[in-house]
Amino acid sequence: MKLLRLIANLGYGSRKQVTALFREGRITDADGEVLYADDELGVHATHDAVRVDGEPLDPAPGLLLMLHKPAGYTCSTKDQGRLIYDLLPPRFRLRDPVLSTVGRLDRETSGLLLLTDDGALLHRIISPKAEIPKVYEATLARPLRGDEAALFASGTLMLESEQKPLLPAELETLDPQRVRLTLHEGRYHQVRRMFAAVGNHVDALHRPQVGGLSLDALAEGQWRILGDADRAALF
Ligand code: URA
Repeated sequence: MKLLRLIANLGYGSRKQVTALFREGRITDADGEVLYADDELGVHATHDAVRVDGEPLDPAPGLLLMLHKPAGYTCSTKDQGRLIYDLLPPRFRLRDPVLSTVGRLDRETSGLLLLTDDGALLHRIISPKAEIPKVYEATLARPLRGDEAALFASGTLMLESEQKPLLPAELETLDPQRVRLTLHEGRYHQVRRMFAAVGNHVDALHRPQVGGLSLDALAEGQWRILGDADRAALF
């Protein structure tokens, strides 16, 4: 791939704007040697060696990252209000291919959210075949009535306006109004709708874990790029 295309796709500007960066000698290798728009990635410089104004390039395509989404942020590029993209470097919103969320967390839900620009990886993660467990912690408006764990595990619960029953899910009681729920699919507002189906209401919802990945020390609003070990932990 030509460096011009790579750098424009990473959101540094239109082809015209990036051509100007090359003309001004602002794109160099790690030793400060000027690179040219027609130079080929891998022939004239590796991704890690390219500098723009002396700064390393943004991460290469194929990016997978996790964000600790705070409540109050929307998983959208253009809703009104606070967006999860506001928590990432501004250029990340301009990448081509786009950086999409892997599934969604609703606005009032906090927790582990994955984003990627790799469409194949995205589909692999959200595919029901992958059966990646997603762990939620919910605070409920009312104490559990007692039969929820059996009902959620039964694989027979139908949500309103759906054609297929939910897959079995595991419910663990932390205290009478706090639960941990592990899902193996991702339907629209699933946790909130499951508790509505048993006459309860979710007051607060947090997702600490997806597959073998957990938020660990990542504070609200922080993000990090996932490497090979994280990807292996996911599946
Ligand atoms: N279930 C919900 O109700 N909301 C989410 O954000 C995720 C799962």
